[in-house]
Amino acid sequence: MDGTGDSVERIRADHHADTLPEVSLDDLTAVGITGIIVDLDNTVCAYRRPEPAPGVADWIRGARERGFAIVLVSNNFTERVALVGAELGIPVVANALKPLPFAFLRALRLLGTPRQATVVIGDQLFTDVLGAKILGLRTVLTKPLVAHEFPLTRVLRFLERTVAGRS
Ligand SMILES: [Mg+2]
Repeated sequence: MDGTGDSVERIRADHHADTLPEVSLDDLTAVGITGIIVDLDNTVCAYRRPEPAPGVADWIRGARERGFAIVLVSNNFTERVALVGAELGIPVVANALKPLPFAFLRALRLLGTPRQATVVIGDQLFTDVLGAKILGLRTVLTKPLVAHEFPLTRVLRFLERTVAGRS
């Protein structure tokens, strides 16, 4: 099949950061971002951990103080997502089925920001970044907080490494 290179190009993130707290709010403002959709597992919290990773709560507080709208969108189940959202003081969309667009559309309504002013920040190319790209949202790909993951995630990681090896 031809065209593999094009598909790979299309699911590359717009920006990269090692962790969520290292995402520059100044840079987001500079490219016109006012709404932030953030992933939970391995972006806000380490896998299976209830507490946000170091620096995350401060980063989110700082972003809200600067006027960014933020929503947590996670494929994880309702109770876990709601607990983290409550701790951080931000709305949530759980059971998101990323990369399908429905949860992102719901998140956009909660944010009240236009697509071109909204960024998705997450650690997975095939859920966070791909789902964002489907709707024309900007993307920041972070590195996963820890390596221990769901079996399906491990398969997706393998595919990501394969894709990354081509670029
Ligand atoms: Mg994640």
